[in-house]
Amino acid sequence: MIHYTCDRCHKKIDENIDLRYEVSIVTQVALDEPDASLQEDRDHLNEVDDLLERVDDEECERLCQELYQSRRYDLCANCFQQFTRNPLGADAQPQVEFSEN
Ligand SMILES: [Zn+2]
Repeated sequence: MIHYTCDRCHKKIDENIDLRYEVSIVTQVALDEPDASLQEDRDHLNEVDDLLERVDDEECERLCQELYQSRRYDLCANCFQQFTRNPLGADAQPQVEFSEN
């Protein structure tokens, strides 16, 4: 049987008693291409091809890891509520409760 631990407060989540919340966060770079719609599709594809040919696999992998990150967290009910209230963890949280194990 798999035991889950809350990634935020590290409390064990007993799925018989507690709800376990999965939170997936995908981060990617937003590229603005204001002129893209003005270009011919064919030209644009050729440019992408040229770019891909110039970038070797290792470099490409590094770039992709920088540009796109996907993470998954397990949260207990309490932490999930806190997360939904303040997903970015911005500002000091006035009431942080640490439950004693
Ligand atoms: Zn928790």
